[in-house]
Amino acid sequence: MTKLSPMMQQYRDTKDKYPDCLLFFRVGDFFELFFDDAVQAAKELNIALTSRDGNKEDGIPMAGVPHHAMENYLSRLVKRGYKIAICDQVEDPKAAKGLVRREVTRVITPGTIIEDNFLDPTRNNWLLALCREGRNWGVAYADISTGEFFCSELEAPREQIEAIISALAPGEILVPPELSRQFCGPFVTTAAEAGADPDFAPKDNPVWLHPLARRATTMILAYLGDKHRLSARHFNTLSWRDFNRYLYLDAVSQRNLELVSALSGDRSGPSLLKVLDATSTAMGGRLLRQMLITPLADAQGINERLDAVEVLTDNFLVRKKLQRLLADMYDLERIVTKVSYNTANARDLNALKTSLDALPGLSELLQDMELPTLLQAARDRLTGFETLSGLIGKALQPDPPLTIREGNIIRSGYSEELDALRALASDGSEWLKRYEQKLKEETTIKSLKLGFNKVFGYYIEVTRANLNAIPDFFIRKQTLVNAERFITPELKEWEEKIISAHERQHSLEYQLFCELREHVATFSARIQATSRAVATIDCFISLAEVAVSNNYCRPQVNSSDCLVITEGRHPVVEKFGEHQFVANDCTLDTGQSQILIITGPNMAGKSTYMRQVALIALMAHVGSFVPAEAARIGVLDGIFTRIGASDDLASGQSTFMVEMSELARILRRATANSLILLDEIGRGTGTTDGLSIARATIEYLHNTPGITAKTLFATHYHQLTALEELERVENCSVQVAESMGEVTFLHKIIAGGSDRSYGIHVAKLAGLPEQLIAAAGQYLETMIAEGSAETPVVRETAATRAPLDPGVQEIIRQLSALDPDDISPRQAWEILAWLQQKAASLPGSGVNYED
Ligand code: ATP
Repeated sequence: MTKLSPMMQQYRDTKDKYPDCLLFFRVGDFFELFFDDAVQAAKELNIALTSRDGNKEDGIPMAGVPHHAMENYLSRLVKRGYKIAICDQVEDPKAAKGLVRREVTRVITPGTIIEDNFLDPTRNNWLLALCREGRNWGVAYADISTGEFFCSELEAPREQIEAIISALAPGEILVPPELSRQFCGPFVTTAAEAGADPDFAPKDNPVWLHPLARRATTMILAYLGDKHRLSARHFNTLSWRDFNRYLYLDAVSQRNLELVSALSGDRSGPSLLKVLDATSTAMGGRLLRQMLITPLADAQGINERLDAVEVLTDNFLVRKKLQRLLADMYDLERIVTKVSYNTANARDLNALKTSLDALPGLSELLQDMELPTLLQAARDRLTGFETLSGLIGKALQPDPPLTIREGNIIRSGYSEELDALRALASDGSEWLKRYEQKLKEETTIKSLKLGFNKVFGYYIEVTRANLNAIPDFFIRKQTLVNAERFITPELKEWEEKIISAHERQHSLEYQLFCELREHVATFSARIQATSRAVATIDCFISLAEVAVSNNYCRPQVNSSDCLVITEGRHPVVEKFGEHQFVANDCTLDTGQSQILIITGPNMAGKSTYMRQVALIALMAHVGSFVPAEAARIGVLDGIFTRIGASDDLASGQSTFMVEMSELARILRRATANSLILLDEIGRGTGTTDGLSIARATIEYLHNTPGITAKTLFATHYHQLTALEELERVENCSVQVAESMGEVTFLHKIIAGGSDRSYGIHVAKLAGLPEQLIAAAGQYLETMIAEGSAETPVVRETAATRAPLDPGVQEIIRQLSALDPDDISPRQAWEILAWLQQKAASLPGSGVNYED
């Protein structure tokens, strides 16, 4: 192998320390990537792939981006899950002897972003750490950009961990080496562990009594500290998360119910969050998202939230005023993080001040109301920042530049020393004006003028025509086409004074700003707590606003076992659907109506109905009002859904296998306090197998103690309506109006089962060729006539449901095809004789009429 140049050797040594990162290596004005990194980045960023050795075929592959445009490229790579190490020059190349010293100054991975431009203000960017011992898991997750840090320890099956991952949607997951095979993908990092305990969680913190939670927590801290060199000083609290306090929603149900994004994966598509989010601040928006994916499972907690929402729904004017104040607030949590990492500039501190200044107004508005517990607790956190805000206001210019090193950020009157330097600088300007005037008079050159440029400093410019009038003490410095530039010893002397006054002024302003920022950092814990209080208030206002504008009602939430909804609506379909929404009732309880079998035509609204019941129940658990006339909801422990045929081809599972695995998971996990939605169970396989599985599922849910969950079961197997015979099973169907062969879907749920699917009608609506529709219609008729079509409702008890003998089926068919008004006595006699003969041939009849 050819020997590497010293710089490439430096590159190699650095890259060896960051093997899993794309290494951006500063060379001149560019950040370059080499070898495989270059090939990968060129492909991802669509930039030119060249060769370090002048495009030789066997040269080192190279690709680069200009240093000033790097952020944009980095952001694209981070979003795709790449980890990036930035190796910068850490000494002035001009001053360097030999090779310039370079060091990795920042490592960016998807879970450790602090740069504003890379972050989505509406969502947390969690860094999640997992570890495991047998069935016990340690879970910790932190958002570096907001300072939130949680941990937990739980005994749980893997699917519960998947549910947590799905709810958090972390930017990056850290796992110890032993779990790296089970969790893999671009966003998973195998992390080393460290023993260091964080300073902010004292040894007597109860969290520390849980060894796995502690291990996961230290994994995060070690990752930030060792690899990213990010301090943890803005993590002021480490909170315990008890996952059992929340309604269990597995990963599939979170997706199916379209809580925070549409099923299509389109983030801007319709979702429950989109309907409920009328928050005014970034931190409020993030908290609402958290609330939606972690609904509470205790009646008291839920009612406390509902109390807060209710009081705000009742106070229109106060709500509007609060919203106006909130709209002026910036992202406090993320500003605090920037303050802690010394990346906040003067504009950030001004934004902080503006936000802090809104707090007394918020507090005052809330004062006029009778506050329920949660709002009172939030209000208590809104005070105590007057001095800090006053200090920022006194220190900073109202409209400072982005950079903090070039002055113009500190107000006059804040520092005597700075004011003196400013006076000196302005004296200089005055002196220059006077000096220019003096020279004009002395030389009688009217066009003489003083100027400044970065290379020569201050100069005197005289046009060519006047050169004969210049005095001896002018020293020539530069020749232009029409003029000459000069300096004088006196001008140089003042120049030094002026420039040094400017430089000292800038560096003093920088120093004063850093001191101020450091002072603000000491408030980080309090500002974070206040920010969360503001987020809480914002969320409740949002829920109240949506409740009023969408005509929601307060649900009664208690520990009963009923789920009764009067005139319920689907919150998302009613908002984004094209037609007027038809409201529907629902009654479920474990005593009488445990399982509701929903039949009805395709496209009638069965899935919509099931989802709306689940969403209304879920909204109530979040503490939101619900789209209904009234709702009584006993607290659930989980909502489980098996909806639609989501193929999982990537994992090599067939549609039916996915369906069965999801069903198996539900039956393993659900309890008598759960709500289950099952849509068309058994449709993924042959009719007889599917029907048998569907029927057995209903019986299992009905008969197995401990898992008698409230269940909505939509099906096209009309035969299942016979299961109404079971004690706690009820039928309902979606109403259809049929006139002159045309079908209208009324979307109204009524009691009783249905016996038709109107599939061909839907096929016609979908635009299948007319010829095809006509043929399908004929086949259907023939099958009905022959009795080979789906059997109409079979009235049988669960105990006596052996399939009917084909002979009996034929008798039934012939009899039902008869019109008694239209047969002669002779024909009647013949039919009787035929029936007698048929009856004799039935198995077990024991009669021989021929005898
Ligand atoms: P399939 O059996 O074919 O899956 P389905 O019975 O589950 O159909 P849905 O998918 O729930 O039917 O609804 C079909 C259409 O009817 C949707 O476009 C939906 O927006 C509309 N719809 C459903 N329920 C209502 C309602 N209550 N009011 C108004 N429109 C509704």
